[in-house]
Amino acid sequence: MNTCLSCGTPSVAPVIDFGRHALCNRFLETATATEETVPLGMGACHRCGVVQILEPSSPESLKPHVPWITCTEPEGHLDDLAATIARLPGLPAEATICGVSSKDDSLLRRLEYLRPFRTWRIDPNKDLGIQDPCAGIETMQAHLTPARAEAMVSRQGLSDIVIARHVFEHASSPTTFAMALKQLVTSGGYVVIEVPDCQKALDAFDYTTIWEEHSLYLTPPTFHRVLQEQGFTVQHSLCIPYALENSLIAITAVASGSQTSCLDEQLVSVDVEV
Ligand SMILES: [Zn+2]
Repeated sequence: MNTCLSCGTPSVAPVIDFGRHALCNRFLETATATEETVPLGMGACHRCGVVQILEPSSPESLKPHVPWITCTEPEGHLDDLAATIARLPGLPAEATICGVSSKDDSLLRRLEYLRPFRTWRIDPNKDLGIQDPCAGIETMQAHLTPARAEAMVSRQGLSDIVIARHVFEHASSPTTFAMALKQLVTSGGYVVIEVPDCQKALDAFDYTTIWEEHSLYLTPPTFHRVLQEQGFTVQHSLCIPYALENSLIAITAVASGSQTSCLDEQLVSVDVEV
């Protein structure tokens, strides 16, 4: 049994081993150049149910060697999501909103349009010490540690809302990443996390979904379980349908106390009116 990336117990049973595979972002300069490969295998946790990669590759090995690779995420739902976030109860008049990565810029712009929010976004160089222009999410997620989050808070103050779109599924240590997110937010604030919904891919045995850069392959129930394991309380839950893969969004509050196990708790799946 492998140690679960979500609940930390040795409960992950291997399900399928694909052997070693070439990195998706590694474009060879010549036809005879050596192809780097990484192990690719999937498992499922018998305790918390989370499907996960068995042997996450290091951020250093995943880092692209070229600076021109871009990625886009589905954005058709962002107007509605911004409106929902802007109406969250308990926000101060000029709430501070922090975006974790460049994937959050377009949502931050929408929020600025709706209300006089103060927005800021983590700077990979200044805030995380990332100098390599080729570095992407694989590097950013590893550099966002609780210590760096604390240093950011000393410069920016705590944020009333922290947004992390399409990063959590890359986390090589979801616990460390979640701790950093919680470090950034005020007591009574919100953390908004969005991930791809792998339910359709798992149902269809779509092996092309497996990607060395995604450590977690979440579905609506396991997404909530991971969040609960990491000490978040889901207050508003959304599943946005898209043709390829749905987007799962959770607007969460930081649970009081330390991490809580979800195993004996009823799954939070009911939207809270805001
Ligand atoms: Zn687990």
